[in-house]
Amino acid sequence: MILSGKDIAINIRQAMREEISSLVQTYGRAPSLAVIQVGDNPASTIYVRNKIKAAEFCGIRSVQIALPVTTTEKELQKRIAALNADELIDGILVQLPLPEHCNEERIIRAILPEKDVDGFHPVNAAALWLHRPLVMRHEATIYSPVQDYGCTIACTPKGILSLLAATGVNLDGKRAVVVGRSDIVGKPLAKLLLDRQCTVTIAHSHTIDLPAVCKDADILIAAVGKPKLITAECVKEGAIVIDVGISRMPDGTLSGDVDFEACKQKAAFITPVPGGVGPMTVTMLMQNTVECFIRRMQKEQ
Ligand code: NDP
Repeated sequence: MILSGKDIAINIRQAMREEISSLVQTYGRAPSLAVIQVGDNPASTIYVRNKIKAAEFCGIRSVQIALPVTTTEKELQKRIAALNADELIDGILVQLPLPEHCNEERIIRAILPEKDVDGFHPVNAAALWLHRPLVMRHEATIYSPVQDYGCTIACTPKGILSLLAATGVNLDGKRAVVVGRSDIVGKPLAKLLLDRQCTVTIAHSHTIDLPAVCKDADILIAAVGKPKLITAECVKEGAIVIDVGISRMPDGTLSGDVDFEACKQKAAFITPVPGGVGPMTVTMLMQNTVECFIRRMQKEQ
């Protein structure tokens, strides 16, 4: 079965729109998101446009800040400091990648952790790793895919948990293989799956015999960026296959990390590219913005 992130994302955004209109009644204003783009990288421009469009749909106030490619790291830091101090801004996102003269790590650290809607700040990343919920307060749903960690969880892993919840499959005790160990996808996703009681393996570029490792997975997630790395040989019959990778092919089309046509014959659930993980990532950004807003509002009261 094809797991359409696009359809699930639309449902969540519609529900969020209603939730946000009731939040406006409660708190007197809508959540707000500032999106900073430095330079005019065409892919970044598309991503920023999608995020602003999603915010508008959900009823989140967005503030778009387009800075020239010549912006220095100091100037960018100053803009972030102003947004940190702005009471009416709940979330700050700096679109990556940045031009080479700006250090991404320092820029991410400049954002207040409580306004870091991407969940990339070390305070948020560390909180995810240290927190191990002893009691499951509620079952994960597509609307609420992870337990409350009291911090912001990176959007793509959170969106993947939401996709998994939409399958209705109980994750408890399942073998999960995450291919890729980046700080923004592979590693946080592995921790979230661990907390969902999966037995998790993280594979990477030094993994020996990747097909054999993957073949063991009830849940296989590819976050690499290598078109069609995951062949049918890697997929166990009846597995859930989630494709995070996005690569632009020479003919202009997009390709995932999974050979979709071959693998869909064996998988119980499989996500397409495009229309799989991508729309869920943007939707979780909206959800993170709402969560940051609620936490700030509750702190003020
Ligand atoms: P990174 O480049 O940061 O990480 C890629 C990972 O893949 C690394 O851990 C690397 O291993 C591993 N890898 C590389 N080659 C192999 C191989 N042959 N076998 C096994 N593992 C390998 O990428 P990201 O995590 O940032 O992104 C991964 C992909 O997901 C990209 O295509 C990106 O565009 C896409 N993406 C999509 C999103 C969405 O919303 N749909 C969001 C974020 C990313 P090692 O550590 O050893 O180098």
